[in-house]
Order: sequence, then C-alpha cells, then structure tokens
Amino acid sequence: MELVTGKLDQPLGVRVSDSCITHSMFANDTFVCAESKTALKQLVKTFCKELSKAGMSLNPAKCRTLAIVINGKTKSWFCSPQPHLNIDGALVPGMTVEETYRYLGLQVGTDYVSHKSVPAELESKLTKLLGSALNPQQKMHGLRTVVVPGLYHELSLEVWRETFLRSIDRQIRAFARRAVHLPKDTPVGFFHTATGLEGLGIPSIHTQTLFLRQKRLESLRASEDPVIRELLNASLIKGEMAKVNEKTTQIRERCAENTYSTAKKMYMAETLYESVDRRGLQHVLQSPSTNNWVRDRESRFTGKEYVSAIKVRGNLLASYERPARGRKTDNKCRLYHVMGTLDHLLQVCPRVHGLRIQRHNEICQSLGKALQKLGWNVFYEPHMKSGTSFVKPDLVCLSKEECRMVIIDPIVAVDNANLNDVAEGKVTKYSTPCQNYMHKAMAGNLSPSTRLRSNQTS
Ligand SMILES: [Zn+2]
Repeated sequence: MELVTGKLDQPLGVRVSDSCITHSMFANDTFVCAESKTALKQLVKTFCKELSKAGMSLNPAKCRTLAIVINGKTKSWFCSPQPHLNIDGALVPGMTVEETYRYLGLQVGTDYVSHKSVPAELESKLTKLLGSALNPQQKMHGLRTVVVPGLYHELSLEVWRETFLRSIDRQIRAFARRAVHLPKDTPVGFFHTATGLEGLGIPSIHTQTLFLRQKRLESLRASEDPVIRELLNASLIKGEMAKVNEKTTQIRERCAENTYSTAKKMYMAETLYESVDRRGLQHVLQSPSTNNWVRDRESRFTGKEYVSAIKVRGNLLASYERPARGRKTDNKCRLYHVMGTLDHLLQVCPRVHGLRIQRHNEICQSLGKALQKLGWNVFYEPHMKSGTSFVKPDLVCLSKEECRMVIIDPIVAVDNANLNDVAEGKVTKYSTPCQNYMHKAMAGNLSPSTRLRSNQTS
C-alpha cells in the first residue's frame, strides 16, 4: 500500500503549514483528501491506477465522499452531499451533514466523530448480558473485562462532553445494580472502586477516558512526523491538552498519587470512603487477597450467595438504619435501642448471638478440615496452661514430621478494626503457653479432638 500511496502528487493535498496531506492509511482503511474536488479527482485517479498495477481495485459502493464547502465572505461552511467522484464509471455516494462513515472503528462525519450510536450499542450489549443464563459473578466479569474495555477505543479518541461520559457510567451502573440486585442508593464509588479497595472494580468511563486521552496525546509528542508536530502546535490541540492535563492533575492531587493506575484507583476509592457507608474500609489494604472472590468468576459461590456477600461488603443489606436515612422514621434496634446498623446486627445484637457463634464455628471447622486433608494433626480448643489459669485457642495444628505447631484462633473482628492490632493481641496471648504445650504434644500425650464447644465465639 505504501508503494501505491507513494505515487500520490503531494501538492494536491491539504496544506498543513509547510507540508501537504494527501492520504491517511491504516492497513486497508485509507482516506484521500484534497482542497478541491478537481484535485481529489486527480488523486483518486492516480490511486486507482497504482492499485490496479498491484492487482487491487476500489469498490465504489463501499466508498464515500465528504465535501465541505467554505464561503469566505460569510464565514460559513456547508456539507455538499452531491456525488462528484467517479470510480470505474460508478459514482461514489456523497455524505450528508448528518451521515457518518465507519473508519477504524469510529463513526466519522462532519461533526468530528458521532457518538449517537454509543449508548444504543452499549444498551443492546448490556441487555444481552443481563438476559443470559450466566450467574451474577460471571455477568460482572463480562462487564469488567469485555463490555467496558470495548468502549475505550472509541471514547478515548474524541473530545466528549463530561455529561455524556457520566451518562455512559450511569448506564453501566444501572446494569450492575440489576445484575447484582443492589439497592438504588448504593454509593457511586462502590461500583467504580477497585476490588482490592472494597469496591466492585468496574472501570469508570469518565476517569478512564480522561487518562487514556492524556496518554494518547502525550505519545503524539514523541512523533517525528512533521504533520503531527505541526498539528500539536494548533490551538485546538493545545487547548485540549491543557484541559486534559488540568483534570488529571486535579485527580492526582486529590488522592496524592502520582502514577496513572494508582491515581485512577484511589480517586474512586476516595469517593467511596467519603460516603456514609465508608466506615470500616480504612484497613482494607492490609489483606488484599481477601478481596479476590469479588473478581473470581469461577468461585464456589452460588449466584444468591455472591449477591448476599456483595451486599455485606457494601453495607447494603436491609437494616433498621438504612431505610431511615433522610427520613424521620425509627432507626433504632427494636431490642437494644441503639442505632440499628448492619455493624450492630453482625457484631453486637443479642438477637443473632446464636448465628454469630455458628458463623465463627463454621470458619473453625472448615479450616480444621482443610488442614487435616493436608496432613496436619488438628486439636480443637485444647486447654493450655498459662500461669495460674489456662487459655483455649480454637485450633492447634501439629506437624510431627516438620516438628511444627501452628495456633489458629479465628476472630470475626468489626470491620473498622485494625487487623494488625487484633493479630498482635493474639500472638501475645498465646506465645508463652504455646511453648509448654508443644513439648507435650510432640511427646504424643494428646489425641485430636473434633468437636467445638458451642458457647465459644473467639
Ligand atoms: Zn440489636
């Protein structure tokens, strides 16, 4: 193709400072441009002639012309849809001011790139995904990895109004709300915050497009093409660069982050932590692997379990406090007369005391079973002498071959607890009694027990 376009007569093209552009080409997607209809005819004639030498030809039905006529006196322009170009005896259809042509995946017309089709195409994809037989975690995976990234190319190449980008984000959030059955007042930050920072990890089109656009514009600076260098000096591009840089700097400053990826992530996380449901998210970075299940499309969760787990994570389950927000209705726990928050129900309320114990014991049992499968000897709640009293960790695991003993004492801490402090407290509690117990255990004076007492919670 380069041999073919190399024959195009340079002075006939569109002038940009000292250079002339006659064409632009990516693989077989080519456009030819000129400042007059006569010059264009000449260029296309040469183009067709050179193509035929290489054994190729143009299909006039698949080509389009776009003619913009400028009136210098009235300082106005209009689009002339009159067909004027002839290829092998066939007229090439001319585009009207409203028509677009798909070039490199973009709908190109007189008004830069048309975005009218984006919301409709997105809606059709989302409806198809929502109606599929997939479970909620798989639908969310499809949204994160296929549907949303599919928009980047088109959206990052053009200047968009912020309101338009935000409306696309709203469309995506509406889908997520239906796929995971979330309430209407779910904080915006919860959808777009990274999964490692307690969100759902759906990229925000508004933020993502901004950073992608900045990256594209910056990479143009490295270009040695004289036309590109000239275009970078144009006031339109300079203004766009300044605008994009200003916005991305604001985001970086707001979350004190300097790299692209962390700034993007932290921007949405900040939005979430500022919301009313932020409590309990401060220490989430201490245990990144505990967030993996959110993105795991092949997890052992059923769809229903996944939805419930997401609601617990986002503080979105029904509680006395939640529906009372902004209203004068009673938000107190009917039994305890304190604020009936999810935190109160999960950690404090006496009405669910039994369930709370069951939750703790099930964690211990499943840990114990898994360790036994791996060949460890597991002791449930053995008594360990500690000074004049005794301590009782949930699980003591013994590996005689490796001469190792591990104490596991699971605790379901409140969500705003600093897990390091909790862990250190346990280490201090068990370090001394553990020494004596290990000698006894290694000597074979103990037999594994398999039952948990039902009144033990931590
Ligand atoms: Zn209560």
